[in-house]
Amino acid sequence: MQGEFESDRAFLPKNMIENSMFEEDETEGIPIDDGMSDVAIGMRHTGATDDVLHDAQQHSVPSSPGLSRLPVYGLDLDELEEDEEDEDSSRRLLGTAFLYRMDDEPGAMRNSDLAEIRNARSGAGINSLPACTLRRAFAAVLLCALAVVVITVLAYKLPGPCNSGDDCQSTTLPSPTVSVRQNIDEFLWSNNRLPRFVQPKIYTLHLHPNITNETFSGQLKVTLTVIEQTSYIVFHGMGLNILSAALLAVDSSLPSSLLTNSVLQQHAVRSTEPLRAGHQYDLFLNFSGNFSHNLKGLYRSTTRNENGILKYLAVTQFEPTYARMVFPCFDEPAFKAKFSLSLVRENRHVALANMPLVKSEPLPGELTKDSFLTTVKMSSYLLAFAIGEFESISSKTNSGVNVSIFAVPGKAQHGKFALDEAVKALELYETAFSIAYPLQKLDLLAVPDFGAGAMENWGLVIFREIYLLLPPDNTNAFSIISVSRTVTHELAHQWFGNLVTMEWWNDLWLNEGFATLMEVIVTDALHSDWDLRSQNSLNNMLSAMKKDSLQNTHPISANVHNISKVEEMFDSLSYQKAAAVLGMLRFYLKVQPFDQGVKVYLKNNSYRNAEVEDLWRAISQSVDNMGDVTKMMDSWIYQPGFPLVTATLNGNEVHLHQDRFFLDHPEAPDTKSELWRIPLILLTSNNSLSDLEFHLMVNREDKLPIGEVTWFLLDEGDVGGFYLVNYDVANWNALQKQLMEDHTVFGSSQRAVLLHSAFVLAFSGILNYSVPLSLTQYLPAETSFVPWHSALRNLGVLNNLLEFYGAESHHLQDYILNISTPILNISFSWNSSEIVQQRMLQEYSFPLLCRYGSENATRKALSLYFNWKRHNASVPADVLATVYTEAVRSVPEAFDFLLSRYLNESSSSERYILLQALASTPNATQRQWLLRAALDEQMIKTQDLTTLIVTMAVTSPNGTLDAWDFMVQNWDFLVEKFGLGSHMLSLMVSSTTMSFSKPEHVAKMQHFFTMERRAEMRSAAAAVELVEINRKRIASIRQETATWLNSLEGHL
Ligand SMILES: [Zn+2]
Repeated sequence: MQGEFESDRAFLPKNMIENSMFEEDETEGIPIDDGMSDVAIGMRHTGATDDVLHDAQQHSVPSSPGLSRLPVYGLDLDELEEDEEDEDSSRRLLGTAFLYRMDDEPGAMRNSDLAEIRNARSGAGINSLPACTLRRAFAAVLLCALAVVVITVLAYKLPGPCNSGDDCQSTTLPSPTVSVRQNIDEFLWSNNRLPRFVQPKIYTLHLHPNITNETFSGQLKVTLTVIEQTSYIVFHGMGLNILSAALLAVDSSLPSSLLTNSVLQQHAVRSTEPLRAGHQYDLFLNFSGNFSHNLKGLYRSTTRNENGILKYLAVTQFEPTYARMVFPCFDEPAFKAKFSLSLVRENRHVALANMPLVKSEPLPGELTKDSFLTTVKMSSYLLAFAIGEFESISSKTNSGVNVSIFAVPGKAQHGKFALDEAVKALELYETAFSIAYPLQKLDLLAVPDFGAGAMENWGLVIFREIYLLLPPDNTNAFSIISVSRTVTHELAHQWFGNLVTMEWWNDLWLNEGFATLMEVIVTDALHSDWDLRSQNSLNNMLSAMKKDSLQNTHPISANVHNISKVEEMFDSLSYQKAAAVLGMLRFYLKVQPFDQGVKVYLKNNSYRNAEVEDLWRAISQSVDNMGDVTKMMDSWIYQPGFPLVTATLNGNEVHLHQDRFFLDHPEAPDTKSELWRIPLILLTSNNSLSDLEFHLMVNREDKLPIGEVTWFLLDEGDVGGFYLVNYDVANWNALQKQLMEDHTVFGSSQRAVLLHSAFVLAFSGILNYSVPLSLTQYLPAETSFVPWHSALRNLGVLNNLLEFYGAESHHLQDYILNISTPILNISFSWNSSEIVQQRMLQEYSFPLLCRYGSENATRKALSLYFNWKRHNASVPADVLATVYTEAVRSVPEAFDFLLSRYLNESSSSERYILLQALASTPNATQRQWLLRAALDEQMIKTQDLTTLIVTMAVTSPNGTLDAWDFMVQNWDFLVEKFGLGSHMLSLMVSSTTMSFSKPEHVAKMQHFFTMERRAEMRSAAAAVELVEINRKRIASIRQETATWLNSLEGHL
């Protein structure tokens, strides 16, 4: 999966990223389901509804969060007689269930639950739980008793898997003919992880999504193999109404009952006869449910056609744990199985799924049933489908895979670039891994509403439109790179993630770290002129280091026993830090052995699940000593944080010392803190890169011989290392002098990393701000994008902190304009140059120069705006965002004009740019109007709300405060929309708070986040920690910056 802003956020020229020394990328997790929706929906439709409910109420445990909420909804189920009323109520319940999450105290149930998990060994091989354990668990766990005992022989023939057009069964799965309900007062399992006594082999799933009324119904047959004898089959389901169930052995049905535990999002079928190991059984389920309203599971996306008519489409998003919202399944990555899917759609629609269509059959009522080829063996989170009006363009790889771009009508043509990238990338991956892409087709689908940036579903990758489509008249350099990187990332997942999947979510980094690493390698191979490799170290640092320098971080491989914490694994540590660490190993092993090992890893684990040791074992086959690889990587994978290496010249040696780095730098470092195995290259004024060898630093203290040198550098820049280096003052001065004399002695990546490191060390109080600020003095001679990116980002962070205080910020802005004048005068062509690096520099720096008061830049932006508005002259795509933004900031009527364009615009990328411009308005009334409008998803799409809040938060101190107030006042609404564990909410929290340092702001924020369960949100805890550091450091930061800027007086 590619998170929002993931692919381009490290180098977007957007205002939103200027506020961060590093990118913010935390996702947080809090239990997603409160247990209520499942209960409520589970109670409708079956004739048993009322009886079961009354029984459940009688059995309810007062402290259990699920049942205790029943009265909250004011729902008297005795009154629910009509089906329609039933449906409305259920939907209401589903929609409002989120509102009650904040009231959901972490009570005894969750604690005991957690204790159970800690005691259990990940579910594997556990056949039966001691009854006392179960009863104790039940005493605290919400149990909902929906029971259907099937005691009859099911006299129907069931469809088999769909492997070709001929053997597809056309009949819908029938319901069991007889069922007897029974109230069960005890669930059977108390672990978040499923037991492993059965293994699903193949799902035959038939679904009928009704897009108009946002409901679905389905029939499912799961063929299971019993691994260990058991009487229970436990599987997932969330918010589903299971209408009937049946369990069949080869020739007979088994009397059984169905139980539901909505807190664990699990159902259990209990058989009165033991299921025998090595035997096969079929589980049949009929069920129904509602579309979600939070872009998870199955949801409705909307678009308008060229006539302004509203069109609906149905889309799925199952990673990490949302397949269970759409059908009952064993929803953990290790339960790999095949899926044979059929879908009912309206005749005017197209249905897309992982596999090619093999058969379409007409049904009454203008409906069609589409059956798809059975999938390869895969995890449930990779299943996907979409139904709507789509058009496509297609191409073929040289190995014959049919690659298509699908989009809503009128937009598929905008996918030409992505199609070309996808074909080339697929061919490259097939060659690089020596494993063919196993499916006949690969569809890349752009949808108007999508929570993440993109999702790698096998054979049907789904993208948010701006990450796949490039409208010809609105294609800036960053969008081109972003589309390319997103496509190469998702295609890498077809191997890393789909073919070989992590065993459990604690090792999500095996999926995401690899995909992020491959994305850079392959995009660089396709477009070497973009110079992505030299941007890589800085991007990884910008993305992940800030989070990793706080106490509130976690190791790359972190324990996630609780299913509700899974979502928070999708953060910058699983993506960028993991990619950096893998890249570091790759360089250290001199590339080839690493690449060879990866091939072995993929081959050995195809269609299976892998753990970290499998990877090290495979890589070690190509190197001399596996112990070395494992030891080195363990230090990076299992320890939180990263090292600061302090390097001091002492005669003919460089003394090295390592400690864990904290932004809140301790007075006396902990001498027992973690140790890392750090690959280093010592670069000096006397040697060149060609004769350099890695040195692996393994102890706290180390030394390297060095001759007579003017300066030295521990080269993390080109290595791609995930660590910081500090030098003695004399060496910092010597490096600064070298930059001034001839900066090209260092590579552009090294220059960028030097600048970034100095700023981070100054923020934490290790260096005086005079050091990083002095380094920036060479910039008038700098023409490469990466060092400028590093400098402007860090200066932007400093400016945003100081802006709350006034004077120093004005001086700093004058200084930034002064050093930037040469790029403004020389580099700006004002036309789309062919040189992507130059376009990026222009696109990145232009809005900043305008913001810091460059009259030249603002005049240029406004002249482009008026020429466009009055004479319809085109504006170069790379500066379009700045032109709109400057118009909103300077021209009174521009806001209304651009707002009306926003409301009527159908292009997602154009809307994105327009919304950013509108959010930058200096007018408080307009900001308030926008924020109010954000509550109405007809006006601003849910997925775009983050853009609005984040942009507003980083544009000005007043914008920050407005965005903060909005977030606080509408916290429950935002939690309902996005979920506490979501990446989007996390971005809002970090962007609205990261520049707070005044005591009144810090106190207000700390008060808000320490209330109720908000402190459980890791990004909130991190934000609180960060502003506390801001508060402690701000006086020194102001003083040091002012002193340095004053020392320049007369020299500017
Ligand atoms: Zn991914």
